[in-house]
Amino acid sequence: MTDCLANRTVDTLITDVRLADGSGAPVTDERFDVALRDGRIHAVAPAGALAGWQASQRIAGRAQVLSPGFIDVHTHDDTNVIRTPDMTPKLSQGVTTVVVGNCGISAAPVTLGGDPPDPMNLLGEADAFRYPTFAAYVEALERAQPAINVAALIGHTALRNNHMDRLDRPATEAEIEGMRAQLREALANGALGLSTGLAYANANAAPTEEVLALAEPLAEAGGLYATHLRTEFAEILEALDEAFRIGRHARVPVVVSHLKCAGVDNWGRSTEILDALEARDPEQAARAMQRHLCRVRDAYAASASLAREEHP
Ligand SMILES: [Zn+2]
Ligand SMILES: [Zn+2]
Repeated sequence: MTDCLANRTVDTLITDVRLADGSGAPVTDERFDVALRDGRIHAVAPAGALAGWQASQRIAGRAQVLSPGFIDVHTHDDTNVIRTPDMTPKLSQGVTTVVVGNCGISAAPVTLGGDPPDPMNLLGEADAFRYPTFAAYVEALERAQPAINVAALIGHTALRNNHMDRLDRPATEAEIEGMRAQLREALANGALGLSTGLAYANANAAPTEEVLALAEPLAEAGGLYATHLRTEFAEILEALDEAFRIGRHARVPVVVSHLKCAGVDNWGRSTEILDALEARDPEQAARAMQRHLCRVRDAYAASASLAREEHP
């Protein structure tokens, strides 16, 4: 807390709140005042201690919980953050950062030859894909000034779309090199890492080797690998092994974007799958080097992928 008199004029003063400070510490009944200035936390003090401060905006917290914004780590908001920069559906729920570009699909870098291949069409019609480089996407974001922060993954399927005449076959070495060059450009301009959606038809023909080769630039850039597994059905353990093999080869953390046992025949295997995430692998030592993040354990007997509304 500052004791400089000159700093007792702030933009916003939020009084009488309980704090979830983001450290994981439990929320207690203790009350605080929080002062914001120039978009940053300027002071945190016991409730009442900042009563004499000047603020353009005062918000009475009335013992409600105040927390940092939430990070929505799995979204397909790539084009939403530009088309609807107010992002009310997210912001109204407390989300202040979205990670876009998941499941192998991203808005950039993309050059379309026709309609966006499935499931890239989840991000919009052809005219939504206007960013042949990641730098162009960053520029568009800066122009749009979305109300929330954006962190972006680069989609493998998007890269395939840029370099291949058809997507139902493995990429050639030259095509992989072209994809890798685009991934490098994106990482150099701030992209978080690479995502794949090997379960989807337009990426499924990619052998593991294609992704291994593509993922090579990640480590140097401090990137990560996010995977919508090749399958969540009977061969889910093999799919997990494939994901970790890619992570080990690239020497980067692996994010398993969805973790579920799909299909009636696969029900009841969740313990086995979770154990596999922890320890199953004979190369445990190597695996221990990787952080395993598990975003979703679907608590449902059913799941869905794309639900789209068609307007004739
Ligand atoms: Zn997915
Ligand atoms: Zn997804």
